[in-house]
Amino acid sequence: MKILVLNSGSSSVKFQIIETDLKRMKAHQDTMLATGLVEKIGLSDSRLVLKIPGKSTYQDYHEILEHRAAIEWVLRTLVDPEHGLLKNVEEIEAVGHRVVHGGEEFASSVLMTPDVVEMIESCSVLAPLHNPANLRGYHAAHAILPDVPHVAVFDTAYHQTMPAHAYLYGIPFQFYKKHHLRRYGFHGTSHRFVSFRACQILGWKRPEKKLITCHLGNGCSLAAIDHGKSIDTSMGFTPLEGLLMGTRSGDLDPAIIPWLMAMEEMTLHQINTMLNKHSGLYGVSGVSSDMREVLKARAKGNQRADVAFRMFCYRLKKYIGAYAAALGGPDAVIFTGGIGENSPEVREWTLEGMEYMGIELDHEKNAAMVGDEGEITTPDSKVKVLVVPTNEEKVIARDVVRVLNGLMPTFDPPETFD
Ligand code: ADP
Repeated sequence: MKILVLNSGSSSVKFQIIETDLKRMKAHQDTMLATGLVEKIGLSDSRLVLKIPGKSTYQDYHEILEHRAAIEWVLRTLVDPEHGLLKNVEEIEAVGHRVVHGGEEFASSVLMTPDVVEMIESCSVLAPLHNPANLRGYHAAHAILPDVPHVAVFDTAYHQTMPAHAYLYGIPFQFYKKHHLRRYGFHGTSHRFVSFRACQILGWKRPEKKLITCHLGNGCSLAAIDHGKSIDTSMGFTPLEGLLMGTRSGDLDPAIIPWLMAMEEMTLHQINTMLNKHSGLYGVSGVSSDMREVLKARAKGNQRADVAFRMFCYRLKKYIGAYAAALGGPDAVIFTGGIGENSPEVREWTLEGMEYMGIELDHEKNAAMVGDEGEITTPDSKVKVLVVPTNEEKVIARDVVRVLNGLMPTFDPPETFD
């Protein structure tokens, strides 16, 4: 079936058309038929980009003021005889929506009924920048395609299996009760997909294995996966916690915040912007948030780029060690995301000296593994290390198929308190 996958932000809508079904999923043969986006929604020069494999990229400009007009434009272009690929919009049999926050309500992907939509709205307080934009995309798509099923796939859902000792913060318990202030974690679709795919490659049954998945893109997070379930993850209440990222600081002493507010007379808004947009690889290196640029500058002898790179790998190493302890020793470590898939240097530096825990990197295989999938450890390595390209849109399309076939895995209800 052809599925429209939508990732709606406040001023953009990214989309893909993916052909998949249960048979294709099993054979790992889902096909991406088209991908693209509308950006600068709300401005006079909104841009549409459509890429169809085997065709040259199509671009167009219009004034697009809201999401409904953006999605109508996408569909018009997709059925355009010259630039598109569909005969008519009826070929789209379902729509999958990326939703950032599912709070404690959603532990798996769901059909978007009116009740579900209301519950997603109630989660907006936890993700005020993201959920309202995701819902704007849903309302627009639902108005245009009211007769096909719409499915919500949450970034947080997969981590809902974390036990309370992993998700609670060491602050007064009343804040958890009153505001649901706890670790949620993100990138759940990616952690779930690459852990599944790694086991498929190795011929393992995922419910029998312990895995550490490292999603390293512009945002970065790890997950500790025990017998198919996420038991811990490095992003927290927001995506700011954990690893050093492109522009986000990751972990830091929280006392730095009031100290800086006093010493630099910074406002909360300025602190928030500094931690989310001006920190990480960018803030430390002063070069770029893009790992490729940091690597280039490092190769030319730039010392701040070098320390930013080493901080990135060192933090990752520490988290792998922490999750190895949490799991009682992993069976495999998996790298994904733009950096995880494409940077042998990051993998090499991170895993150096981890033979004590059973990781024996095959340096040649690691150096050659760029943008491909497979093992990068020696045949004798007790812990396997794999690179698995992620594809969050594909996971969303697959979840649509699972939900429509009643196959979405159900999890034990998370541990909660009164
Ligand atoms: P997003 O989180 O936005 O989806 P990606 O998963 O595409 O991002 O990852 C973007 C990151 O991947 C950037 O830091 C980019 O520099 C890095 N990256 C992409 N290709 C390479 C490469 N060949 N070597 C090192 N880093 C790379």
